Amino acid sequence: MKDSYEIAVVHGDGIGPEVCGAAIEVLDATLGTGILRFIEYPAGAEHFLATGESLPEKTAQACRAADAILHGAAGLPGAVHPDGTEAGVDFSLKLRFGLDLYANIRPIRLYDGVESALVGIPAGGIDYVIVRENSEGLYAARGAGSVLRGDVAVDTLVQTRKGIERIVRKAFELARLSDGAPADGVRRVTCCDKANVLRSYAFFRAVFDEVAKDYPEIEAEHVIVDAMTMYLVQRPGHFNIIVTENMFGDILSDLAAATIGGLGMAPSAEVGADNGLFQPSHGSAPDIAGRGIANPYGMVLSAAAMLDWLGRKHDDKRLLDAGGRIRRVTEGALSAGCLTTDLKGSATTREVTDFLCQALASKEPITA
Ligand code: ATP
Repeated sequence: MKDSYEIAVVHGDGIGPEVCGAAIEVLDATLGTGILRFIEYPAGAEHFLATGESLPEKTAQACRAADAILHGAAGLPGAVHPDGTEAGVDFSLKLRFGLDLYANIRPIRLYDGVESALVGIPAGGIDYVIVRENSEGLYAARGAGSVLRGDVAVDTLVQTRKGIERIVRKAFELARLSDGAPADGVRRVTCCDKANVLRSYAFFRAVFDEVAKDYPEIEAEHVIVDAMTMYLVQRPGHFNIIVTENMFGDILSDLAAATIGGLGMAPSAEVGADNGLFQPSHGSAPDIAGRGIANPYGMVLSAAAMLDWLGRKHDDKRLLDAGGRIRRVTEGALSAGCLTTDLKGSATTREVTDFLCQALASKEPITA
């Protein structure tokens, strides 16, 4: 346990600063000031447009040295490299590869008070975790693909035994700690791939099967990614932990978020052996930026995940308790109807933040 922890904060672009600022207020309301020291660093699309750099070296070094990294979102329309790729995503992608943040853990849970895009699903009826491999797969080709003579474009999908083994192991370890799938209570890890078509995915599946033997008490199954998009709509309650390749995890996360109220409800934790980056699953949402209506819950839940990770890493009960408190007040706020416009409510980002901070300060149970 340390006396205090340094958190590198990169607000980013669009709604990034709005939701990130909300999360910092909530963290302060939970722990008081002093235990977490927030230090802000620049990166992202706006910084790229101003300076030509999307991730300054000083920011990268500070992120590496910090105890954890908190990030809103990055990216703006028009902030692109000469090859057409977005400059804003450099921040996350460079840190994922540079700090080896191999596990992207994305809980998907339908909270009481939030309406799913799917009909007739009760609160808690969707409760699974997408474990997205974050350091290999198709996105490992970022910056290394090629376009030949204006006729042919190539990006290479990379999967290594080491990379697959560790992400699959992470998935089974999470299943061990979980309560199982909502539909039947079974602890289950689903390998989502395209093993029927590509060798790299058949390899992913073969390594998955090898690792699964070490966890005989947990059910292991395979689902092809295209069928998965259907099952996540038709019977999301079946799933407990889903482990998958980088790009598939990216795509499935947005579909999954739509079933629990939208992207604003989806937190994420990107962790490796030493470092952790915590940002919501959503992007910078330029369409609603600056209007004060961004949903901060996904970001706040990502901040709670940061406290869990730091608390476990440093054996610090103060942080573990604080993470639990944030989750409880979040549940309370949602079921009390404190909903932003994307959730069919009318609360602003400010109002949700105030609600959460007041609930954290109060010893009384939360009411509408
Ligand atoms: P990226 O590829 O950078 O992750 P994206 O293409 O998934 O970004 P987002 O910026 O996440 O796109 O936005 C997609 C849609 O979801 C937009 O209509 C946006 O307004 C909405 N959205 C995303 N996050 C939030 C949020 N926190 N609150 C409300 N709406 C949101």
